[in-house]
Amino acid sequence: MESPAVENLVVIGSGPAGYTAAIYAARANLKPLVFEGFQAGGIPGGQLMTTTEVENFPGFPEGVTGPELMQRMKAQADRWGAELVTEDVAAVDLSVRPFVVTASSRTVKTHSIIIATGATAKRLGLPSEAEYWNHGISACAICDGAVPIFNSVPLAIIGAGDTAAEEALFLTKYGSEVHMLVRRDQMRASKAMQDRVLNHPKITIHWNTQAVDVFGEAGFMTGLRVRHTETGEESNLTAKGLFYAIGHKPNTDIFKGQIALDDTGYVKVQPGSVETNIEGVYAAGDVQDHEYRQAITAAGTGCAAALLAERWLSMNDLTQEFKLAAKPLKPESEKSAPPTVTAPFDINQTHHVGGLALRKLYHESDRVIMVKYASPTCGPCHTLKPILGKVVDEFHDQIHYVEIDITEDPEIAESAGVTGTPTVQFFKEKALAGEMKGVKQKSQYSEALAAHLVAESVSS
Ligand SMILES: Cc1cc2nc3c(=O)[nH]c(=O)nc-3n(C[C@H](O)[C@H](O)[C@H](O)COP(=O)(O)OP(=O)(O)OC[C@H]3O[C@@H](n4cnc5c(N)ncnc54)[C@H](O)[C@@H]3O)c2cc1C
Repeated sequence: MESPAVENLVVIGSGPAGYTAAIYAARANLKPLVFEGFQAGGIPGGQLMTTTEVENFPGFPEGVTGPELMQRMKAQADRWGAELVTEDVAAVDLSVRPFVVTASSRTVKTHSIIIATGATAKRLGLPSEAEYWNHGISACAICDGAVPIFNSVPLAIIGAGDTAAEEALFLTKYGSEVHMLVRRDQMRASKAMQDRVLNHPKITIHWNTQAVDVFGEAGFMTGLRVRHTETGEESNLTAKGLFYAIGHKPNTDIFKGQIALDDTGYVKVQPGSVETNIEGVYAAGDVQDHEYRQAITAAGTGCAAALLAERWLSMNDLTQEFKLAAKPLKPESEKSAPPTVTAPFDINQTHHVGGLALRKLYHESDRVIMVKYASPTCGPCHTLKPILGKVVDEFHDQIHYVEIDITEDPEIAESAGVTGTPTVQFFKEKALAGEMKGVKQKSQYSEALAAHLVAESVSS
């Protein structure tokens, strides 16, 4: 179906707030256009893509992983006709009506907007941070904790809230010991979480302690310079990994000067509502929430924003109705599954899984090999999966593609020098030809593969 000249509603963000708003607006026949984001303020699916178990979201008594919960919300929004675009919004103009929203590949006009851009993990800005970023320092223990460089070595985490406590506990699965640096003489974490870290034999809490810098050898971090906040005394702490859990900054840079923000950058809403100071513009989730910052409150405010947007469009005779039938849900049996590690090795297949297949392909393949290193708890790895799926379809029969779970094959990841997930490496003629870290646009993987294939055909 063609896009209208002016959208009913644009939703910016795809965390619990954005997808819930999209579900409600789509069910109300508004056909919302959702900019899911890509890199600007987190990743598509939002903050829950970086966590493991979510045990407090109603309806999942057995718990659910963050990525699965977000995948389900996305599927529900898609099923009811929301148009989902995996792009960042670069600018908005709220001074004109209809409003103008500029994303990476398109500019659209819209009568109403729901801002659901959430929040991003803060960095400390230590002097050597850039040098050791991804070579010891990470902002996401849940994403990167399983990486081999953190295995059985001392680790450090900075923070004093619930997230820091959860991540410190998570890191005990991998590190030999976990040092938790707390700036003051008390923690902000809930009593239950404090008890768990205080009683954990692998966790040492360093009270009144802040990081001054990190240092390392051969490009990898080996320790931290720390300072006692009361005495000013400085000392070295051995740690081969440093994780930040120091809070979040609301993703509102693109709205500065356009809409009322408070002193800390959160969107200001009317008390008890999600209405902003501009009619037809609503803010939902962590981007406007100092207090609760939970998936369920984000979803609740996303729902409220969609209901208010629907009412406002209707009151102003702006609603264009799109009666779309719900898309059928794919039965489990029809969902395409990757090959399993136990599947017999067949060099004629494009898609392979596991270290054994990679070793065989490394020696026997005459194609370019694309290898994805991922870990089950890494949200960005889930984001990358469908992107690489499309790339593999495009280059089918010209390449071999291998998925490595670094928790299953840690020695492979170690010998490949993988320091964070997801990492994609390209091999040809038994040599590493290129590497891409994190999640990139599909076109970047396609261009890299095309270049490797051209180089190969020239050399052969
Ligand atoms: C490690 C961790 C564990 C957590 N565990 C729990 C838990 O167990 N239970 C719970 O209830 N809560 C938990 N939370 C909190 C919960 O994740 C957040 O409260 C919730 O995700 C907020 O939802 P949101 O939709 O407001 O924003 P977010 O989830 O932050 O999503 C924001 C979205 O906006 C997009 N975006 C940003 N800028 C742009 C832009 N310029 N253009 C387009 N899109 C953009 C991002 O890509 C992202 O999709 C946890 C958080 C963390 C970090």
